[in-house]
Amino acid sequence: VTNSTFTRKLLQWHGSNKRPLPWKKTSNPYRIWLSEIILQQTRVEQGTPYYLKMIRLFPTVKDLAKAHEDQVLSAWQGLGYYSRAKNLQAAAKQIVANWNGKFPDRYEEILQLKGVGEYTAAAIASFAFGLPHAVVDGNVYRVLARVFGITENIHSAKAKKTFFRLANELLDRRNPGAFNQAIMDFGSLVCRPANPLCNNCCFRRECRAFQQQKIQEWPVNRKNIRIRKRWLNFMIIETADSLIIRKRREEDIWPGLFEWPVLETQKKPAQKELLANLPLIKFAGPKPLKLTHRSEVVKHLLSHQTLFATFFHFKSATKKLKLPRGAQWVKKRNLLDFPLPKLLENYWKNQLH
Ligand code: SF4
Repeated sequence: VTNSTFTRKLLQWHGSNKRPLPWKKTSNPYRIWLSEIILQQTRVEQGTPYYLKMIRLFPTVKDLAKAHEDQVLSAWQGLGYYSRAKNLQAAAKQIVANWNGKFPDRYEEILQLKGVGEYTAAAIASFAFGLPHAVVDGNVYRVLARVFGITENIHSAKAKKTFFRLANELLDRRNPGAFNQAIMDFGSLVCRPANPLCNNCCFRRECRAFQQQKIQEWPVNRKNIRIRKRWLNFMIIETADSLIIRKRREEDIWPGLFEWPVLETQKKPAQKELLANLPLIKFAGPKPLKLTHRSEVVKHLLSHQTLFATFFHFKSATKKLKLPRGAQWVKKRNLLDFPLPKLLENYWKNQLH
């Protein structure tokens, strides 16, 4: 996707998907700053009443600066991370002392405020003053990594630069606030960490992660990496020209792709135990399925998981099996028309040779 297409589509999406939040109606930097600090570690639903309370109790920077600390802390009660409330008041005092109570209107100055980092400074600068600074947070990393196929580990300094540069290139300079809001909303509403709404996504056609089935792996986040091992035992149940497939569940690897019925085990299973437990065996009816081939174990690496796959081939004399829900017979020659995980696709292609 080109930069300008990305920006245009994102803003278009945002045009019809805005969330009506109280601080979005304002360009008052003080209010925007309050909302940003509240939302640093708090969800919107929980933060909104606090925002409304704060602007009621402390309508201006000066009111906040001169309030008693206890008043501020008690208004904050229940939100946690009290250092945020203390920093808020310290910054309000800075604004009174250094800028005469008028909220600073340059990015570098905003960045000097206590408790304000690059992300918050960019948000205030763009929302309140229309300055061209892109916000870059976890949402932005995720959206950009997926759409543009960026595979750098987001904890590296190099990645930080890459994302920062790209976000600023993409930024709509005529309307940086709208762009920033759009990309954050998009990250939290559509391109969510788990279960992104790819099927209704405006970037579906261009998105690298979607095309390459890397949604679970991108953004690459190597700090939390704990490689999980999984043993997947696939059943390829065949007649002369057909076999059984089904669609995978949404909440695991390969959401929505097709696979052969599978039994997952915690460790390498004994064949006997497997044959007793494989799904569908129990649906076979009076004529038992005949195991004709068992593959070698195929090792497959995902960024957070190592898969050990074994493929069991069974001959069925008849198609009249009682299929579990979601399973279907398809012609073998049509199998590759279905979206399969790479691991399965490769295995099947090898079978054909
Ligand atoms: S297609 Fe999916 S992964 Fe790609 S941008 Fe859209 S929601 Fe995110």
